[in-house]
Amino acid sequence: MGKATGFMEYRRELPADRDPLDRILDWQEFHQHLSEEELRKQGARCMDCGIPYCHTGAVINGMAAGCPVNNLIPEWNDLVYRGLWKEALDRLQKTNNFPEFTGRVCPAPCEGSCTVGLIDSPVTIKTIEREIIDRGFEEGWIQPQPPEKRTGKKVAIVGSGPSGLACADQLNQAGHLVTVFERADRIGGLLMYGIPNMKLDKTLVQRRIDLMAAEGIRFVTKTEVGKDYPVEKLLEEFDAVVLCGGATKPRDLPIEGRHLKGIHFAMEFLAANTKSLLDSNLEDGNYISAKGKDVIVIGGGDTGTDCVGTSLRHGCNSVTQLEIMGKNPETRAANNPWPQFPRVYKMDYGQEEAKAVYGCDPREYSITTKKFVGDENGHVKELHTVEIKWEKEANGRMTPVEIPGTEKVWPAQLVLLAMGFLGPEDTVLSQLGVERDERSNVKAEYGQFSTNVKGVFAAGDMRRGQSLVVWAINEGRAAAREVDRFLMGETFLP
Ligand SMILES: Cc1cc2nc3c(=O)[nH]c(=O)nc-3n(C[C@H](O)[C@H](O)[C@H](O)COP(=O)(O)OP(=O)(O)OC[C@H]3O[C@@H](n4cnc5c(N)ncnc54)[C@H](O)[C@@H]3O)c2cc1C
Ligand code: SF4
Repeated sequence: MGKATGFMEYRRELPADRDPLDRILDWQEFHQHLSEEELRKQGARCMDCGIPYCHTGAVINGMAAGCPVNNLIPEWNDLVYRGLWKEALDRLQKTNNFPEFTGRVCPAPCEGSCTVGLIDSPVTIKTIEREIIDRGFEEGWIQPQPPEKRTGKKVAIVGSGPSGLACADQLNQAGHLVTVFERADRIGGLLMYGIPNMKLDKTLVQRRIDLMAAEGIRFVTKTEVGKDYPVEKLLEEFDAVVLCGGATKPRDLPIEGRHLKGIHFAMEFLAANTKSLLDSNLEDGNYISAKGKDVIVIGGGDTGTDCVGTSLRHGCNSVTQLEIMGKNPETRAANNPWPQFPRVYKMDYGQEEAKAVYGCDPREYSITTKKFVGDENGHVKELHTVEIKWEKEANGRMTPVEIPGTEKVWPAQLVLLAMGFLGPEDTVLSQLGVERDERSNVKAEYGQFSTNVKGVFAAGDMRRGQSLVVWAINEGRAAAREVDRFLMGETFLP
Protein backbone atom coordinates (compact mmCIF):
# COMPACT_ATOMS: atom_id res chain seq x y z
CA MET A 1 0.00 0.00 0.00
CA GLY A 2 1.61 3.24 -1.17
CA LYS A 3 -0.45 5.79 0.76
CA ALA A 4 -1.31 4.67 4.27
CA THR A 5 -3.56 7.64 5.01
CA GLY A 6 -5.18 8.07 1.59
CA PHE A 7 -8.65 7.12 2.84
CA MET A 8 -8.45 9.90 5.45
CA GLU A 9 -7.11 12.55 3.07
CA TYR A 10 -9.17 12.13 -0.09
CA ARG A 11 -12.88 12.01 -0.65
CA ARG A 12 -14.56 9.55 -3.02
CA GLU A 13 -14.98 11.11 -6.44
CA LEU A 14 -16.77 9.68 -9.46
CA PRO A 15 -16.48 10.97 -13.00
CA ALA A 16 -19.51 13.16 -13.73
CA ASP A 17 -21.73 11.44 -16.29
CA ARG A 18 -22.74 13.50 -19.31
CA ASP A 19 -25.57 15.96 -18.63
CA PRO A 20 -28.85 13.97 -18.84
CA LEU A 21 -30.54 16.59 -20.99
CA ASP A 22 -27.68 16.48 -23.53
CA ARG A 23 -27.12 12.77 -23.57
CA ILE A 24 -30.75 11.85 -24.32
CA LEU A 25 -30.26 13.59 -27.68
CA ASP A 26 -27.93 10.83 -28.87
CA TRP A 27 -26.99 7.18 -28.27
CA GLN A 28 -23.38 7.74 -27.20
CA GLU A 29 -22.12 6.45 -23.86
CA PHE A 30 -22.90 8.63 -20.86
CA HIS A 31 -19.69 7.66 -19.00
CA GLN A 32 -16.87 10.19 -18.71
CA HIS A 33 -13.31 9.95 -17.37
CA LEU A 34 -11.45 11.16 -14.29
CA SER A 35 -8.07 12.90 -14.65
CA GLU A 36 -4.92 10.88 -14.02
CA GLU A 37 -4.22 12.89 -10.86
CA GLU A 38 -7.72 12.21 -9.50
CA LEU A 39 -7.56 8.53 -10.36
CA ARG A 40 -4.33 8.13 -8.45
CA LYS A 41 -5.95 9.77 -5.41
CA GLN A 42 -8.91 7.44 -5.70
CA GLY A 43 -6.54 4.45 -5.85
CA ALA A 44 -4.81 5.82 -2.74
CA ARG A 45 -8.10 5.63 -0.81
CA CYS A 46 -7.75 1.83 -0.73
CA MET A 47 -6.55 1.11 2.81
CA ASP A 48 -5.21 -2.40 2.13
CA CYS A 49 -7.38 -3.67 4.96
CA GLY A 50 -6.43 -7.03 6.41
CA ILE A 51 -9.37 -8.94 4.90
CA PRO A 52 -10.45 -7.32 1.63
CA TYR A 53 -14.03 -8.51 1.20
CA CYS A 54 -14.15 -6.55 -2.06
CA HIS A 55 -12.56 -9.45 -3.93
CA THR A 56 -14.22 -12.40 -2.19
CA GLY A 57 -17.35 -12.81 -4.30
CA ALA A 58 -18.98 -14.78 -1.49
CA VAL A 59 -22.74 -15.19 -1.75
CA ILE A 60 -24.32 -13.84 1.45
CA ASN A 61 -28.08 -13.61 1.83
CA GLY A 62 -28.59 -14.57 -1.82
CA MET A 63 -26.42 -11.76 -3.23
CA ALA A 64 -22.75 -11.51 -4.13
CA ALA A 65 -20.65 -9.73 -1.52
CA GLY A 66 -17.48 -8.70 -3.28
CA CYS A 67 -16.35 -9.32 -6.82
CA PRO A 68 -17.63 -12.56 -8.40
CA VAL A 69 -14.53 -12.86 -10.63
CA ASN A 70 -12.27 -12.22 -7.62
CA ASN A 71 -10.52 -9.24 -9.16
CA LEU A 72 -7.29 -8.46 -7.25
CA ILE A 73 -8.68 -5.07 -6.31
CA PRO A 74 -6.32 -3.87 -3.54
CA GLU A 75 -3.34 -4.79 -5.74
CA TRP A 76 -4.47 -2.76 -8.74
CA ASN A 77 -5.67 0.13 -6.61
CA ASP A 78 -2.16 0.43 -5.24
CA LEU A 79 -0.55 0.12 -8.69
CA VAL A 80 -2.82 2.88 -10.02
CA TYR A 81 -1.88 5.11 -7.06
CA ARG A 82 1.76 4.58 -8.01
CA GLY A 83 1.09 5.29 -11.69
CA LEU A 84 2.01 1.72 -12.73
CA TRP A 85 -0.85 1.32 -15.20
CA LYS A 86 0.59 -1.51 -17.27
CA GLU A 87 1.23 -3.57 -14.15
CA ALA A 88 -2.31 -2.80 -12.99
CA LEU A 89 -3.60 -4.04 -16.36
CA ASP A 90 -1.63 -7.29 -16.00
CA ARG A 91 -3.24 -7.90 -12.60
CA LEU A 92 -6.71 -7.08 -13.88
CA GLN A 93 -6.42 -9.42 -16.85
CA LYS A 94 -5.48 -12.31 -14.59
CA THR A 95 -9.04 -12.55 -13.30
CA ASN A 96 -11.35 -10.73 -15.71
CA ASN A 97 -11.52 -11.40 -19.45
CA PHE A 98 -13.67 -8.35 -20.17
CA PRO A 99 -13.12 -5.46 -17.71
CA GLU A 100 -14.29 -2.99 -20.36
CA PHE A 101 -17.77 -4.51 -19.98
CA THR A 102 -17.90 -4.92 -16.18
CA GLY A 103 -16.26 -1.49 -15.70
CA ARG A 104 -19.35 -0.06 -17.42
CA VAL A 105 -22.30 -2.27 -16.53
CA CYS A 106 -21.48 -4.10 -13.30
CA PRO A 107 -23.55 -3.10 -10.23
CA ALA A 108 -20.22 -3.32 -8.37
CA PRO A 109 -20.89 -5.59 -5.40
CA CYS A 110 -17.17 -5.00 -4.68
CA GLU A 111 -17.95 -1.45 -3.58
CA GLY A 112 -20.73 -2.69 -1.29
CA SER A 113 -18.15 -4.75 0.61
CA CYS A 114 -15.28 -2.26 0.59
CA THR A 115 -13.92 -1.78 4.13
CA VAL A 116 -13.65 2.00 3.73
CA GLY A 117 -17.40 1.86 3.10
CA LEU A 118 -17.93 0.82 6.73
CA ILE A 119 -17.09 4.30 7.96
CA ASP A 120 -17.03 6.41 4.79
CA SER A 121 -17.81 6.13 1.05
CA PRO A 122 -16.23 3.11 -0.64
CA VAL A 123 -13.28 3.21 -3.03
CA THR A 124 -14.32 3.91 -6.65
CA ILE A 125 -13.37 0.39 -7.70
CA LYS A 126 -15.54 0.11 -10.81
CA THR A 127 -14.30 3.43 -12.24
CA ILE A 128 -10.68 2.43 -11.67
CA GLU A 129 -11.29 -0.92 -13.36
CA ARG A 130 -12.70 0.80 -16.45
CA GLU A 131 -9.86 3.33 -16.58
CA ILE A 132 -7.22 0.58 -16.40
CA ILE A 133 -8.65 -1.37 -19.33
CA ASP A 134 -9.52 1.71 -21.42
CA ARG A 135 -5.94 2.90 -21.02
CA GLY A 136 -4.67 -0.56 -21.94
CA PHE A 137 -6.49 -0.36 -25.27
CA GLU A 138 -5.54 3.30 -25.88
CA GLU A 139 -1.85 2.63 -25.23
CA GLY A 140 -1.90 -0.39 -27.57
CA TRP A 141 -0.91 -2.74 -24.72
CA ILE A 142 -3.68 -5.15 -25.65
CA GLN A 143 -2.77 -7.08 -28.77
CA PRO A 144 -3.92 -10.47 -30.08
CA GLN A 145 -2.10 -13.29 -28.31
CA PRO A 146 -2.88 -16.57 -30.04
CA PRO A 147 -1.84 -19.68 -28.11
CA GLU A 148 1.61 -21.03 -28.94
CA LYS A 149 0.43 -24.63 -29.30
CA ARG A 150 -2.84 -26.26 -30.37
CA THR A 151 -4.14 -29.42 -28.71
CA GLY A 152 -6.17 -30.56 -31.71
CA LYS A 153 -9.32 -30.75 -29.55
CA LYS A 154 -12.43 -28.99 -30.83
CA VAL A 155 -14.98 -27.24 -28.62
CA ALA A 156 -18.34 -25.79 -29.67
CA ILE A 157 -19.90 -23.00 -27.65
CA VAL A 158 -23.59 -22.35 -28.14
CA GLY A 159 -24.35 -18.68 -27.49
CA SER A 160 -22.06 -15.67 -27.62
CA GLY A 161 -22.99 -13.69 -24.48
CA PRO A 162 -20.40 -12.96 -21.80
CA SER A 163 -20.40 -16.55 -20.50
CA GLY A 164 -19.81 -18.03 -23.96
CA LEU A 165 -17.16 -15.43 -24.76
CA ALA A 166 -15.29 -15.90 -21.47
CA CYS A 167 -15.39 -19.68 -21.90
CA ALA A 168 -14.18 -19.38 -25.50
CA ASP A 169 -11.35 -17.04 -24.50
CA GLN A 170 -10.07 -19.39 -21.79
CA LEU A 171 -10.34 -22.56 -23.89
CA ASN A 172 -8.62 -20.88 -26.81
CA GLN A 173 -5.76 -19.82 -24.54
CA ALA A 174 -5.49 -23.48 -23.46
CA GLY A 175 -4.89 -24.34 -27.12
CA HIS A 176 -8.26 -25.85 -28.09
CA LEU A 177 -9.96 -24.94 -31.36
CA VAL A 178 -13.08 -23.05 -30.35
CA THR A 179 -16.15 -22.32 -32.47
CA VAL A 180 -18.85 -20.02 -31.08
CA PHE A 181 -22.35 -20.41 -32.59
CA GLU A 182 -24.76 -17.49 -32.37
CA ARG A 183 -28.24 -17.27 -33.85
CA ALA A 184 -28.26 -13.46 -33.99
CA ASP A 185 -26.53 -11.57 -36.78
CA ARG A 186 -23.99 -10.10 -34.38
CA ILE A 187 -21.88 -11.67 -31.64
CA GLY A 188 -22.22 -10.58 -27.99
CA GLY A 189 -25.54 -11.88 -26.60
CA LEU A 190 -27.08 -9.33 -24.25
CA LEU A 191 -23.87 -7.27 -24.38
CA MET A 192 -24.80 -6.54 -27.99
CA TYR A 193 -28.59 -6.73 -28.18
CA GLY A 194 -29.74 -6.27 -24.57
CA ILE A 195 -27.78 -3.53 -22.81
CA PRO A 196 -28.25 -0.33 -24.87
CA ASN A 197 -25.47 1.55 -26.61
CA MET A 198 -25.47 4.51 -24.19
CA LYS A 199 -24.52 2.15 -21.36
CA LEU A 200 -22.12 -0.05 -23.33
CA ASP A 201 -20.91 1.17 -26.72
CA LYS A 202 -21.18 -1.62 -29.27
CA THR A 203 -17.84 -0.67 -30.86
CA LEU A 204 -16.25 -1.84 -27.59
CA VAL A 205 -18.04 -5.19 -27.81
CA GLN A 206 -16.96 -5.56 -31.45
CA ARG A 207 -13.36 -4.56 -30.57
CA ARG A 208 -13.15 -7.46 -28.11
CA ILE A 209 -14.69 -9.90 -30.58
CA ASP A 210 -12.24 -8.84 -33.29
CA LEU A 211 -9.39 -9.41 -30.86
CA MET A 212 -10.65 -12.89 -30.00
CA ALA A 213 -11.12 -13.72 -33.69
CA ALA A 214 -7.52 -12.61 -34.33
CA GLU A 215 -6.47 -15.02 -31.58
CA GLY A 216 -8.04 -17.90 -33.46
CA ILE A 217 -11.62 -18.23 -32.20
CA ARG A 218 -14.16 -18.96 -34.94
CA PHE A 219 -17.46 -17.09 -34.74
CA VAL A 220 -20.48 -18.37 -36.65
CA THR A 221 -23.47 -16.00 -36.68
CA LYS A 222 -27.07 -16.43 -37.91
CA THR A 223 -26.90 -20.09 -36.92
CA GLU A 224 -29.28 -21.47 -34.32
CA VAL A 225 -28.08 -24.77 -32.95
CA GLY A 226 -31.03 -27.17 -32.95
CA LYS A 227 -32.59 -25.48 -36.00
CA ASP A 228 -29.96 -24.44 -38.55
CA TYR A 229 -27.31 -26.76 -37.14
CA PRO A 230 -28.46 -30.19 -35.92
CA VAL A 231 -27.34 -31.20 -32.44
CA GLU A 232 -26.25 -34.65 -33.74
CA LYS A 233 -23.76 -32.93 -36.05
CA LEU A 234 -22.51 -30.80 -33.18
CA LEU A 235 -21.87 -33.82 -30.96
CA GLU A 236 -20.17 -35.64 -33.82
CA GLU A 237 -17.89 -32.80 -34.92
CA PHE A 238 -16.79 -31.48 -31.54
CA ASP A 239 -15.02 -33.08 -28.58
CA ALA A 240 -17.00 -30.98 -26.10
CA VAL A 241 -19.98 -28.63 -26.18
CA VAL A 242 -20.69 -25.74 -23.79
CA LEU A 243 -24.26 -24.44 -23.63
CA CYS A 244 -24.25 -20.68 -23.00
CA GLY A 245 -27.62 -19.78 -24.54
CA GLY A 246 -28.84 -17.45 -21.77
CA ALA A 247 -32.21 -17.33 -19.99
CA THR A 248 -34.25 -15.60 -22.62
CA LYS A 249 -37.86 -16.66 -21.88
CA PRO A 250 -39.59 -13.47 -20.69
CA ARG A 251 -42.12 -13.38 -17.86
CA ASP A 252 -45.55 -12.43 -19.25
CA LEU A 253 -48.49 -10.59 -17.66
CA PRO A 254 -51.56 -12.59 -18.68
CA ILE A 255 -54.27 -10.11 -17.62
CA GLU A 256 -57.27 -8.63 -19.43
CA GLY A 257 -56.23 -6.76 -22.58
CA ARG A 258 -52.79 -8.39 -22.92
CA HIS A 259 -53.56 -9.14 -26.59
CA LEU A 260 -53.79 -5.43 -27.50
CA LYS A 261 -51.39 -3.83 -29.95
CA GLY A 262 -48.69 -1.67 -28.40
CA ILE A 263 -47.86 -4.11 -25.57
CA HIS A 264 -44.41 -5.66 -26.01
CA PHE A 265 -41.78 -7.56 -24.12
CA ALA A 266 -38.90 -5.24 -23.23
CA MET A 267 -36.41 -7.30 -25.24
CA GLU A 268 -38.47 -6.88 -28.44
CA PHE A 269 -38.17 -3.13 -27.92
CA LEU A 270 -34.49 -3.02 -26.89
CA ALA A 271 -33.05 -5.56 -29.33
CA ALA A 272 -34.81 -4.08 -32.37
CA ASN A 273 -33.68 -0.61 -31.37
CA THR A 274 -30.00 -1.55 -31.13
CA LYS A 275 -30.13 -3.53 -34.38
CA SER A 276 -31.72 -0.65 -36.24
CA LEU A 277 -29.27 1.79 -34.67
CA LEU A 278 -26.28 -0.30 -35.75
CA ASP A 279 -27.68 -1.16 -39.19
CA SER A 280 -28.91 2.27 -40.23
CA ASN A 281 -28.75 4.81 -37.39
CA LEU A 282 -32.50 4.13 -36.93
CA GLU A 283 -33.26 5.18 -40.49
CA ASP A 284 -34.65 1.82 -41.61
CA GLY A 285 -37.55 2.25 -39.13
CA ASN A 286 -37.26 -1.41 -38.05
CA TYR A 287 -37.89 -0.72 -34.39
CA ILE A 288 -40.76 0.02 -32.03
CA SER A 289 -40.84 3.77 -31.59
CA ALA A 290 -41.83 5.51 -28.35
CA LYS A 291 -41.94 8.91 -30.06
CA GLY A 292 -44.82 11.06 -28.82
CA LYS A 293 -46.23 8.20 -26.74
CA ASP A 294 -47.08 7.79 -23.09
CA VAL A 295 -44.90 4.85 -22.17
CA ILE A 296 -45.46 2.56 -19.21
CA VAL A 297 -42.63 0.22 -18.30
CA ILE A 298 -43.71 -2.62 -16.02
CA GLY A 299 -40.69 -3.74 -13.97
CA GLY A 300 -38.18 -1.74 -11.96
CA GLY A 301 -34.91 -3.58 -12.75
CA ASP A 302 -32.04 -3.00 -15.19
CA THR A 303 -34.12 -4.01 -18.19
CA GLY A 304 -36.86 -1.54 -17.23
CA THR A 305 -34.28 1.22 -16.77
CA ASP A 306 -32.94 0.55 -20.26
CA CYS A 307 -36.50 0.87 -21.61
CA VAL A 308 -36.85 4.26 -19.87
CA GLY A 309 -33.55 5.55 -21.33
CA THR A 310 -34.45 4.28 -24.81
CA SER A 311 -37.97 5.77 -24.72
CA LEU A 312 -36.57 9.17 -23.74
CA ARG A 313 -34.13 9.08 -26.65
CA HIS A 314 -37.03 8.36 -29.03
CA GLY A 315 -38.80 11.48 -27.69
CA CYS A 316 -41.67 9.89 -25.73
CA ASN A 317 -44.42 12.11 -24.34
CA SER A 318 -44.10 10.62 -20.85
CA VAL A 319 -42.55 7.57 -19.22
CA THR A 320 -43.54 5.82 -16.00
CA GLN A 321 -41.93 2.74 -14.48
CA LEU A 322 -44.13 0.55 -12.29
CA GLU A 323 -42.58 -1.61 -9.59
CA ILE A 324 -44.54 -4.14 -7.55
CA MET A 325 -42.03 -4.12 -4.69
CA GLY A 326 -41.69 -1.28 -2.18
CA LYS A 327 -39.05 1.43 -2.40
CA ASN A 328 -35.68 0.51 -0.88
CA PRO A 329 -34.52 2.51 2.17
CA GLU A 330 -32.02 5.40 1.75
CA THR A 331 -29.44 3.59 3.92
CA ARG A 332 -28.84 -0.07 4.73
CA ALA A 333 -31.59 -1.78 6.74
CA ALA A 334 -30.62 -3.64 9.92
CA ASN A 335 -31.03 -6.99 8.12
CA ASN A 336 -28.70 -5.92 5.29
CA PRO A 337 -25.38 -5.17 6.99
CA TRP A 338 -21.94 -4.69 5.43
CA PRO A 339 -20.39 -6.57 3.58
CA GLN A 340 -23.66 -7.64 1.93
CA PHE A 341 -24.70 -6.00 -1.32
CA PRO A 342 -26.50 -2.83 -0.15
CA ARG A 343 -30.20 -2.93 -1.01
CA VAL A 344 -30.71 0.84 -0.89
CA TYR A 345 -32.57 3.37 -3.03
CA LYS A 346 -30.56 4.35 -6.11
CA MET A 347 -31.19 6.42 -9.20
CA ASP A 348 -29.84 4.66 -12.28
CA TYR A 349 -29.09 6.48 -15.53
CA GLY A 350 -32.60 6.11 -17.02
CA GLN A 351 -34.30 7.50 -13.92
CA GLU A 352 -31.83 10.41 -13.74
CA GLU A 353 -32.68 11.26 -17.32
CA ALA A 354 -36.44 11.06 -16.71
CA LYS A 355 -36.04 13.28 -13.66
CA ALA A 356 -34.10 15.84 -15.70
CA VAL A 357 -36.91 15.94 -18.29
CA TYR A 358 -40.04 15.63 -16.13
CA GLY A 359 -38.79 16.73 -12.71
CA CYS A 360 -39.24 13.44 -10.84
CA ASP A 361 -38.14 9.83 -10.57
CA PRO A 362 -40.37 7.89 -13.04
CA ARG A 363 -40.77 4.92 -10.67
CA GLU A 364 -44.01 4.16 -8.86
CA TYR A 365 -43.61 1.57 -6.12
CA SER A 366 -45.91 -1.04 -4.55
CA ILE A 367 -48.26 -0.97 -7.51
CA THR A 368 -49.75 -3.70 -9.66
CA THR A 369 -51.47 -3.69 -13.04
CA LYS A 370 -55.06 -4.98 -13.16
CA LYS A 371 -55.91 -4.66 -16.88
CA PHE A 372 -55.11 -3.00 -20.20
CA VAL A 373 -57.85 -1.18 -22.11
CA GLY A 374 -57.78 -0.63 -25.87
CA ASP A 375 -59.21 1.82 -28.40
CA GLU A 376 -61.50 0.98 -31.34
CA ASN A 377 -58.46 -0.14 -33.40
CA GLY A 378 -57.38 -2.72 -30.87
CA HIS A 379 -54.47 -0.59 -29.68
CA VAL A 380 -53.72 -0.12 -25.99
CA LYS A 381 -54.87 3.26 -24.70
CA GLU A 382 -54.79 2.90 -20.93
CA LEU A 383 -53.58 0.80 -18.06
CA HIS A 384 -55.46 0.25 -14.78
CA THR A 385 -53.52 -0.17 -11.56
CA VAL A 386 -54.02 -0.51 -7.83
CA GLU A 387 -51.57 0.05 -5.00
CA ILE A 388 -50.61 -2.88 -2.80
CA LYS A 389 -49.09 -3.55 0.59
CA TRP A 390 -46.99 -6.59 1.42
CA GLU A 391 -48.33 -8.74 4.26
CA LYS A 392 -46.79 -11.77 5.93
CA GLU A 393 -48.83 -14.98 5.77
CA ALA A 394 -48.91 -17.57 8.55
CA ASN A 395 -46.22 -19.59 6.71
CA GLY A 396 -43.93 -16.51 6.62
CA ARG A 397 -44.40 -15.82 2.91
CA MET A 398 -44.97 -12.20 1.88
CA THR A 399 -48.16 -11.64 -0.20
CA PRO A 400 -49.33 -8.50 -2.02
CA VAL A 401 -52.69 -7.20 -0.75
CA GLU A 402 -54.60 -4.57 -2.73
CA ILE A 403 -55.40 -1.29 -0.99
CA PRO A 404 -59.04 -0.30 -1.72
CA GLY A 405 -59.51 3.22 -3.10
CA THR A 406 -56.05 3.40 -4.73
CA GLU A 407 -57.21 2.37 -8.22
CA LYS A 408 -55.73 4.54 -10.97
CA VAL A 409 -55.97 4.80 -14.77
CA TRP A 410 -52.85 5.73 -16.76
CA PRO A 411 -52.85 6.81 -20.40
CA ALA A 412 -50.52 4.50 -22.35
CA GLN A 413 -49.93 3.95 -26.04
CA LEU A 414 -46.83 1.83 -25.47
CA VAL A 415 -46.43 -0.73 -22.66
CA LEU A 416 -43.16 -2.55 -22.12
CA LEU A 417 -43.05 -5.71 -20.00
CA ALA A 418 -39.76 -5.91 -18.13
CA MET A 419 -40.63 -8.31 -15.33
CA GLY A 420 -37.68 -10.64 -15.59
CA PHE A 421 -37.01 -13.95 -17.29
CA LEU A 422 -38.24 -17.47 -16.58
CA GLY A 423 -35.34 -19.53 -17.87
CA PRO A 424 -33.74 -20.91 -21.03
CA GLU A 425 -35.57 -21.82 -24.22
CA ASP A 426 -36.36 -25.48 -24.82
CA THR A 427 -35.33 -26.37 -28.40
CA VAL A 428 -31.65 -27.19 -28.08
CA LEU A 429 -31.97 -28.57 -24.54
CA SER A 430 -34.72 -31.05 -25.33
CA GLN A 431 -32.99 -32.16 -28.52
CA LEU A 432 -29.83 -32.88 -26.55
CA GLY A 433 -31.80 -34.57 -23.76
CA VAL A 434 -30.26 -32.27 -21.15
CA GLU A 435 -31.88 -32.44 -17.68
CA ARG A 436 -33.30 -29.27 -16.11
CA ASP A 437 -33.50 -28.15 -12.50
CA GLU A 438 -36.67 -27.13 -10.63
CA ARG A 439 -36.40 -23.58 -12.05
CA SER A 440 -36.10 -25.01 -15.61
CA ASN A 441 -32.43 -24.01 -15.92
CA VAL A 442 -29.89 -26.54 -17.15
CA LYS A 443 -29.00 -28.96 -14.37
CA ALA A 444 -25.24 -28.73 -14.02
CA GLU A 445 -23.68 -28.23 -10.62
CA TYR A 446 -21.73 -25.04 -10.04
CA GLY A 447 -18.03 -25.89 -9.98
CA GLN A 448 -18.49 -28.86 -12.33
CA PHE A 449 -20.75 -27.43 -15.03
CA SER A 450 -21.25 -30.86 -16.65
CA THR A 451 -24.75 -31.90 -17.65
CA ASN A 452 -26.18 -35.43 -17.72
CA VAL A 453 -25.00 -35.72 -21.36
CA LYS A 454 -21.32 -36.70 -21.57
CA GLY A 455 -19.15 -33.95 -23.00
CA VAL A 456 -21.92 -31.33 -22.73
CA PHE A 457 -21.42 -28.50 -20.22
CA ALA A 458 -23.46 -25.40 -19.35
CA ALA A 459 -22.62 -21.94 -18.02
CA GLY A 460 -24.04 -18.47 -17.48
CA ASP A 461 -27.72 -17.55 -17.36
CA MET A 462 -28.68 -20.83 -19.03
CA ARG A 463 -27.41 -22.63 -15.91
CA ARG A 464 -28.00 -20.09 -13.11
CA GLY A 465 -30.97 -18.10 -14.47
CA GLN A 466 -30.94 -14.43 -15.46
CA SER A 467 -28.09 -12.82 -13.55
CA LEU A 468 -25.23 -10.41 -14.19
CA VAL A 469 -22.45 -10.00 -16.73
CA VAL A 470 -19.83 -10.54 -14.02
CA TRP A 471 -21.41 -13.87 -13.01
CA ALA A 472 -21.55 -14.93 -16.65
CA ILE A 473 -17.81 -14.25 -16.92
CA ASN A 474 -17.18 -16.15 -13.69
CA GLU A 475 -19.14 -19.17 -14.97
CA GLY A 476 -17.61 -19.07 -18.45
CA ARG A 477 -14.11 -19.14 -16.98
CA ALA A 478 -14.91 -21.86 -14.45
CA ALA A 479 -16.67 -24.04 -17.04
CA ALA A 480 -13.65 -23.69 -19.35
CA ARG A 481 -11.51 -25.15 -16.59
CA GLU A 482 -13.75 -28.21 -16.34
CA VAL A 483 -13.94 -28.66 -20.11
CA ASP A 484 -10.14 -28.49 -20.30
CA ARG A 485 -9.87 -31.11 -17.54
CA PHE A 486 -12.40 -33.32 -19.39
CA LEU A 487 -10.42 -33.06 -22.64
CA MET A 488 -6.87 -33.29 -21.27
CA GLY A 489 -7.21 -35.14 -17.95
CA GLU A 490 -5.77 -32.11 -16.10
CA THR A 491 -6.00 -28.35 -16.34
CA PHE A 492 -3.74 -25.36 -15.80
CA LEU A 493 -6.42 -22.79 -16.46
CA PRO A 494 -6.92 -20.29 -13.62
C1 LIG B 1 -31.97 -5.53 -21.04
C2 LIG B 1 -30.97 -6.14 -20.12
C3 LIG B 1 -30.07 -5.31 -19.47
C4 LIG B 1 -29.12 -5.85 -18.61
N1 LIG B 1 -28.25 -5.01 -18.00
C5 LIG B 1 -27.28 -5.52 -17.21
C6 LIG B 1 -26.35 -4.66 -16.59
O1 LIG B 1 -26.41 -3.44 -16.72
N2 LIG B 1 -25.37 -5.23 -15.84
C7 LIG B 1 -25.24 -6.58 -15.69
O2 LIG B 1 -24.30 -7.05 -15.05
N3 LIG B 1 -26.15 -7.43 -16.26
C8 LIG B 1 -27.16 -6.92 -17.01
N4 LIG B 1 -28.08 -7.77 -17.59
C9 LIG B 1 -27.92 -9.24 -17.40
C10 LIG B 1 -26.78 -9.77 -18.29
O3 LIG B 1 -26.83 -9.16 -19.55
C11 LIG B 1 -26.86 -11.28 -18.41
O4 LIG B 1 -26.84 -11.84 -17.12
C12 LIG B 1 -25.69 -11.85 -19.23
O5 LIG B 1 -25.63 -11.28 -20.50
C13 LIG B 1 -25.81 -13.38 -19.35
O6 LIG B 1 -24.82 -13.83 -20.20
P1 LIG B 1 -24.95 -15.24 -20.94
O7 LIG B 1 -23.70 -15.40 -21.72
O8 LIG B 1 -25.26 -16.31 -19.97
O9 LIG B 1 -26.21 -15.12 -21.90
P2 LIG B 1 -26.71 -14.06 -22.97
O10 LIG B 1 -25.99 -12.76 -22.85
O11 LIG B 1 -28.18 -14.03 -22.83
O12 LIG B 1 -26.31 -14.69 -24.37
C14 LIG B 1 -26.90 -15.86 -24.83
C15 LIG B 1 -26.77 -15.92 -26.35
O13 LIG B 1 -27.05 -17.24 -26.79
C16 LIG B 1 -27.72 -17.16 -28.04
N5 LIG B 1 -28.40 -18.43 -28.25
C17 LIG B 1 -29.38 -18.98 -27.48
N6 LIG B 1 -29.73 -20.19 -27.98
C18 LIG B 1 -28.97 -20.41 -29.08
C19 LIG B 1 -28.88 -21.47 -30.04
N7 LIG B 1 -29.63 -22.56 -29.92
N8 LIG B 1 -27.99 -21.37 -31.05
C20 LIG B 1 -27.20 -20.25 -31.17
N9 LIG B 1 -27.26 -19.21 -30.30
C21 LIG B 1 -28.12 -19.29 -29.27
C22 LIG B 1 -28.65 -15.98 -27.85
O14 LIG B 1 -29.05 -15.45 -29.11
C23 LIG B 1 -27.76 -15.01 -27.08
O15 LIG B 1 -27.06 -14.16 -27.95
C24 LIG B 1 -29.07 -7.26 -18.40
C25 LIG B 1 -30.00 -8.09 -19.04
C26 LIG B 1 -30.95 -7.54 -19.87
C27 LIG B 1 -31.96 -8.43 -20.53
S1 SF4 C 1 -16.27 -6.86 -12.00
FE1 SF4 C 1 -17.89 -5.80 -10.84
S2 SF4 C 1 -17.63 -6.58 -8.75
FE2 SF4 C 1 -15.72 -7.07 -9.85
S3 SF4 C 1 -14.33 -5.30 -9.47
FE3 SF4 C 1 -15.43 -4.88 -11.38
S4 SF4 C 1 -17.18 -3.64 -10.77
FE4 SF4 C 1 -16.41 -4.67 -8.92
